[in-house]
Amino acid sequence: MAKNSSRQVGRHFLHIPGPTPLPDRVLRAMDTPIIDHRGPEFAKLAKKCLEGIKTIFKTANPVIMYTATGTGAWEAALVNTLSPGDRVVMVETGQFATLWKKMAEKLDLKAEFIPTDWRTGADPAAIEAKLREDKNKEIKAVCVLHNETSTGCLSNIAEVRKAIDRAGHPAMLFVDTISSLASTDYRHDEWGVDVTVGGAQKGLMLPPGMSFNAISDKALKAAQTAKLPKSFWAWDDMLNMNKIGFFPYTPATQMLQGLAVSIEMLHEEGLENVFARHERLAEATRRAVKAWGLETVCRDPKYYSPTLTAVLLPEGHNADAFRALALDTFNISYGSSFGALTGRYFRVGHLGDINETMLMGALAATEMTLSLANVPHKKGGVQAAMDYLVSQRSAATKQAAE
Ligand code: PLP
Repeated sequence: MAKNSSRQVGRHFLHIPGPTPLPDRVLRAMDTPIIDHRGPEFAKLAKKCLEGIKTIFKTANPVIMYTATGTGAWEAALVNTLSPGDRVVMVETGQFATLWKKMAEKLDLKAEFIPTDWRTGADPAAIEAKLREDKNKEIKAVCVLHNETSTGCLSNIAEVRKAIDRAGHPAMLFVDTISSLASTDYRHDEWGVDVTVGGAQKGLMLPPGMSFNAISDKALKAAQTAKLPKSFWAWDDMLNMNKIGFFPYTPATQMLQGLAVSIEMLHEEGLENVFARHERLAEATRRAVKAWGLETVCRDPKYYSPTLTAVLLPEGHNADAFRALALDTFNISYGSSFGALTGRYFRVGHLGDINETMLMGALAATEMTLSLANVPHKKGGVQAAMDYLVSQRSAATKQAAE
């Protein structure tokens, strides 16, 4: 075969766990003239987004929208509710939990980790035990990632809430849903979350550059006395301006144009169908991995992520070289690896605007790369995934006919 072609043919298969591929409809919605951000057309658009986003977080309270990536919304959650020296408990689920903790420390908070081996989610019992030890009720917040994007482990937030309640502790609950929102069930109000952090570039099928804080009444009250310095992130100015459909500064108009459409698309599909689709694609991926005789980083099925699967390669096979080969040969991108397992695994993203056919293309590319890279594996992963997807479709067809 001729080498050194400068053109990659066909569509790039973006299978990192976010940013995710943009639906053409979202792209078209963003490809429109800029409107006056103090004018009536903008106010209508902003109000539509501000109302619509509540249905995604499942909250009746306002949701703050920042012109920032998820990291900004992490900071906003902390600086709006806490004061210097406050104790916060975080669960060390992986790389992103570690980054959030480092941020808390830089902000002069006393952050303590509940450790894990980066191969599971948050254990509600461990959170309960930590809070019970805090006899003086000094801990102000418990911070948990709903989905740890670096490992592919999903935590049960309803159970974390119950654990905090069982301990009889007044700590607030902050949850990062950056790689789970609009892809798997999430209920800000029902689960008693105080601040939910979200991002645009994953389940919401938008480019990076917008992030969210959904807030409870308790968090709003905490904001009245919180002393960490803030200006851009302050909720009060934003809430006041949002009431009339405006922002305290120039908003990301095109992101809002896209967001209005992405929310529309999620409801057209139906949130339950969106969640079921993500579950289906995740299970198909895991079946492929199992059939190949490989292991997932997430070692306990109760934490399996519906949005990404991290796949361990056998000792002696470098996952970064594997990713580079797949990109070069089959025009597909996977996510990289972190922590003690750096170089040992790659992550297959199956979230956002992704269907069965796209997933099968990705899994076929993976199986071909396993062969090309001489990674010891069994054949039949693609077949196992197809069999599962077909069985799910025929079950759905039968059910519809009944
Ligand atoms: N939290 C999680 C779970 C993430 O996956 C990411 C990024 O992928 C972040 C936080 C940081 O968000 P951003 O990179 O958008 O600033």
